[in-house]
Amino acid sequence: MCINCDGLTRRGLMSLIGASAVAAGLPAAANAAPAVTPDAALARLKAGNQKFITAPQLCEADMAGQRASVAKGQSPWAVILTCADSRVSPELIFGGVGLGELFVARNAGNMADTATMGTIEYGIEHLHAPLVVVLGHQNCGAVAAACEVATKGTKLPGSIGPMVDAIVPAAKAVKGKPGDFIDNAVRENARLTAAKISTQSKIARELVHEGKVKVVYARYDLNSGVVEFLS
Ligand SMILES: [Zn+2]
Repeated sequence: MCINCDGLTRRGLMSLIGASAVAAGLPAAANAAPAVTPDAALARLKAGNQKFITAPQLCEADMAGQRASVAKGQSPWAVILTCADSRVSPELIFGGVGLGELFVARNAGNMADTATMGTIEYGIEHLHAPLVVVLGHQNCGAVAAACEVATKGTKLPGSIGPMVDAIVPAAKAVKGKPGDFIDNAVRENARLTAAKISTQSKIARELVHEGKVKVVYARYDLNSGVVEFLS
């Protein structure tokens, strides 16, 4: 097994994060709380993304082994809310994270609608994941559409219109500001979504207040592969 495989198996992950974390235990029991703090989970994502940038040639994962180790239950250590964009796969861009480790919610524009909010609450309250990351990305089509709606009043078909409407406040908030309009809106949209989770979800608000959960937001760069944590 090469270094690039380390994040791809639970055994490899344990060796990566060191003896103390192993002693604390990445639980094999069904739905046990992951024994990581919000800051440790964040550090693990940052290290994984660094690996993704520097050594993206991931080896074949031990998928059968991973599947067997998590079939009876899951203990994900981070919740990721990101865009449905096919180029932004959390398990890959955080360094080849294995089955059972990330609890992922995706929709165009990484919005926290009711279904997504419930998904996040399930991840932090029921599965005890200590970290929520709202991950926007460069050149997000949904955010670009919201920028068009904000500036030109563009009408979008079907359910796409109401979906994009939820992003329009972020576009309006940064309209006319220095820098790239769409990229500024991507950042603002991620910020507003993280703030919505932290304030409008009673479950998230209380867990954040107790120090058991952190909610952060970030931007993924399609060109460099870098996840820039913004909070
Ligand atoms: Zn997108």
